[in-house]
Amino acid sequence: MTDRAGAGVAPQARLSDWTTLGVGGPADAFVEVSDVASLADALAEAEARDSPVLVLGGGSNVVVADDGFPGTVVRIAMKGLRLESQGGGVLAHVSAGEDWCSFVGYCVAEGLAGTECLSGIPGLAGATAVQNVGAYGQEVSDTIVSVTVWDRLDRSALEMAPADCNFGYRTSIFRATSRYVVTNVTFSLQRSQLSLPLRYTELAERLGTKLGGRAALNETAQAVIELRMSKGMVLGTGGPDSRSAGSFFVNPVLDEVQMNELLRLAPDVPRFPGSRAGGAAAADGAGTPAPMSWKVPAAWLVERAGFTRGYRNGGAAISSKHTLALTVCDGGTARDLLALAREVRDGVRELFGVCLVPEPVLVGAHL
Ligand SMILES: Cc1cc2nc3c(=O)[nH]c(=O)nc-3n(C[C@H](O)[C@H](O)[C@H](O)COP(=O)(O)OP(=O)(O)OC[C@H]3O[C@@H](n4cnc5c(N)ncnc54)[C@H](O)[C@@H]3O)c2cc1C
Repeated sequence: MTDRAGAGVAPQARLSDWTTLGVGGPADAFVEVSDVASLADALAEAEARDSPVLVLGGGSNVVVADDGFPGTVVRIAMKGLRLESQGGGVLAHVSAGEDWCSFVGYCVAEGLAGTECLSGIPGLAGATAVQNVGAYGQEVSDTIVSVTVWDRLDRSALEMAPADCNFGYRTSIFRATSRYVVTNVTFSLQRSQLSLPLRYTELAERLGTKLGGRAALNETAQAVIELRMSKGMVLGTGGPDSRSAGSFFVNPVLDEVQMNELLRLAPDVPRFPGSRAGGAAAADGAGTPAPMSWKVPAAWLVERAGFTRGYRNGGAAISSKHTLALTVCDGGTARDLLALAREVRDGVRELFGVCLVPEPVLVGAHL
């Protein structure tokens, strides 16, 4: 562990080195855990010192304040992948510290369908369950059959079924509480050289098929990567757009009253049926369906509010390839990024009455 009160901050404790946005001050302590026993020890030690804990994966979905984190960062580094045949398919047991892109690449190469549309998303496997990672018509909750966690309250390992994970649009129980640390995720994958049925128009068209059609697994993954690259949504491509956390705002989900209000202000706003609030369980038992919800593209609202690609405010800018990705320029800070995010959020709210909610987790920071 490194200690900021001791011999100074060691390089690995500066969180800007551990986040894709490249911002974030120092942590009081930083420990990497490569198995469940060392995770349990690190958590117990932090609790004994009354030190708050930040669990960190690949740092691709966090905004850490310039002041840093006044506590212990526990960085997930458990590795391992085990395949188990099940019926015509395969259960893939993936340790939380495995690199997500490498795992998806492995599945595609091995002819295992189920995650191909999630190619090119940075971060580690454990965190995919935290925000129910999704893109191009797939979400990890489509294929997750169990999540193994370390329960910080009971101080024991626990296997959770999907129903216990409260998966929703970019959320889960793991985002709502810090009680659980994900140590393993198990996916149910199909043995197939074809993708699962495609559910995203842009991707289906690029692959020369239609919605519900299937395409070669490797071509699907490649098409996803190409689409993502054209939108600056792949890390490691360098350039001014590369320091981001992906989409900064989630697409707002509106109830019918809110949707009608927005349509009054913007009759041409695109909209897609969202999930019925609370799913079937939200029906009142007397057969009354749950209220309808609508998903609206946040990028459309941001553009219509006058924020263009490449727009810069101080040390932060909107990506030149995607309106929803906020980036940190050379020498920029978390403060700069948050100021830009605030400006965008307020601009959209003033024009449309819709309050955009950030997708990344804000650590020691707020909008
Ligand atoms: C260029 C780019 C493109 C992106 N595209 C997408 C996309 O298409 N779809 C999408 O859904 N996301 C996308 N993201 C966001 C991000 O990649 C995902 O949310 C990813 O799953 C985060 O993983 P991570 O390991 O980096 O998590 P981190 O950023 O390290 O952590 C995120 C949150 O999860 C918690 N956490 C991390 N690991 C664990 C664990 N093992 N147990 C409990 N809590 C944990 C952290 O405390 C934090 O609150 C993108 C990001 C970038 C930079």
